[in-house]
Amino acid sequence: MRFFEDFYVYPWASYEENNCNTIFIDGKVPVLIDPGHTHLFHYVVEGMAVDGKVAENVKVILCTHGHPDHIEAIDRFDNDVLKGISREEYEYLRDGYKELFIMTGCQMPKKPFKILLKEGTIQVGDKTFRVIVTPGHSPGSVCLYWEEKKVLISGDTVFYMGVGRTDLFGGNIEALAKSIERLSTLDIEYLIPGHGEMLKGKKAIHKNFKLILDEYF
Ligand SMILES: [Zn+2]
Repeated sequence: MRFFEDFYVYPWASYEENNCNTIFIDGKVPVLIDPGHTHLFHYVVEGMAVDGKVAENVKVILCTHGHPDHIEAIDRFDNDVLKGISREEYEYLRDGYKELFIMTGCQMPKKPFKILLKEGTIQVGDKTFRVIVTPGHSPGSVCLYWEEKKVLISGDTVFYMGVGRTDLFGGNIEALAKSIERLSTLDIEYLIPGHGEMLKGKKAIHKNFKLILDEYF
């Protein structure tokens, strides 16, 4: 579904299966963020087709963190599609997350991550994203801030009226609070979380941050 201009979101609405919201940003270098589960990826392909877009044209895939419901489907893409995740998450994928993948009956991705995200900016074609390292839900979670359009892609760090769980491997509630506090100072018009509803408008987003910081920590 087209959100605005080049920005598309394929939200996951079913409560029966855990899968994440997938984001597609078209342009010179088409980029997909958090492809989700392999067996559910056809929903993204179908959604993109409705919007006249082709999943095979994706050139870069960025992942907010390494949990299976966000990254499993990267293996559907060949090695010439560049894949990115933070260095910390990449290291945990080699070992720390093994149990999590086994527990959820998911395949550890075998395709290599060639982009290791770190605090700073990343240029994808004609678009610049700020990478904000936001540990808490997982040790190396990142959020992507598209400053030009005031879009925050928040992964599982912050949701509409909620925060990411911290009881999985490497989770840390104090770190999560600090990360969310940091995000709350950004100028955001669109908040696109890894699960659930998206939020539009500075006022509503500010209210959401305030509620979370008051109620959860
Ligand atoms: Zn997660």
